[in-house]
Amino acid sequence: MRKDAKIFVAGDDTLIGAAISHLLAQRGYSNILNQTPDQPSLVKRTEVEQFFALFQPEYVFVAGGKSGGIGANQNRPADLMLDNLLQSCHVLDAASRHGAGKLLYLASSCSYPKHCPQPMQVESLLSAPLEATNEAYALAKIAGMKLAQSFRVQYDANFITAIPANAFGPGDDFSPEDSHVIAGLIRKMHEAKKLTLPAVDIWGSGMPKRDFIFVADLAQACLFLMDNYDDAKPINVGTGVECSIRDLAVAIRQVVGYEGELVFDSSKPDGMPRKLLDTTALQALGWMSETDLSEGLQKTYDWFLETQCEETALEEVYEY
Ligand code: GDP
Repeated sequence: MRKDAKIFVAGDDTLIGAAISHLLAQRGYSNILNQTPDQPSLVKRTEVEQFFALFQPEYVFVAGGKSGGIGANQNRPADLMLDNLLQSCHVLDAASRHGAGKLLYLASSCSYPKHCPQPMQVESLLSAPLEATNEAYALAKIAGMKLAQSFRVQYDANFITAIPANAFGPGDDFSPEDSHVIAGLIRKMHEAKKLTLPAVDIWGSGMPKRDFIFVADLAQACLFLMDNYDDAKPINVGTGVECSIRDLAVAIRQVVGYEGELVFDSSKPDGMPRKLLDTTALQALGWMSETDLSEGLQKTYDWFLETQCEETALEEVYEY
């Protein structure tokens, strides 16, 4: 990407989209279209169409669409599915018709089958049933991936797909109902510490494992792929390392400084047993994540402490 290229981050209000926007600005890209007034609502076809017709972005990162942890997926599957389907249909269609030179679509590691051989390879996509708790969201992400591939086939569009591991970091959603595990446990343990509660409940058995990627690293990978990847085949973006929910909870307890007990609540769902991404392809291109889990947890908790009680401007979010 040239430094003056017209770049649009669809969904710059999401955890990943905000990190991409921030990194673009930090690296001196001067024509980021998210900074123009009258940003389109991505679920409204006419607004997206008018925006692309007017600005004709050359590069598009598609990071939009509602998402959330296992709770959000169970309680609001229709919202999550619809929002993601609408956004990807509108953005990919407009990008194709208004001549975007390249588009990066962000899918999700929950697009892989529930009992997928580990580490998960792209060849396993659509080979077996999905995990029930996030099937609706995962199907919307699979549809987005297929749409990106279909635009390549039919219109010769340079649309690529990245499949990220579980992202976390500053800017995450810490609400008890919607958060993913890291933000959820940070909030729970922080509050338990303040109130000197004797125990905190951890959902599920503690046995599932996840590949957690710090969001600033993921943003770096997205820019790297925009410059270095042109294949129809989706590419995994992970750390190559997995951590059990039990070990994660212990690590968060240490970062937060909570001294109570961790109680595993097996009436709550585990979700997928494992989600380790095979990162051979990305490593072969020369990219690896930099931030290890404990450093990422510390940065995330620091951000939470600084911002928990008030709405924070994006610039402040990224002072880490
Ligand atoms: P997933 O990767 O799509 O399953 O999303 P999550 O980040 O929501 O959950 C990951 C794992 O952490 C699951 O096994 C959850 O049951 C477990 N978990 C434990 N405690 C919590 C919690 O407080 N919030 C969330 N979201 N997950 C939790």
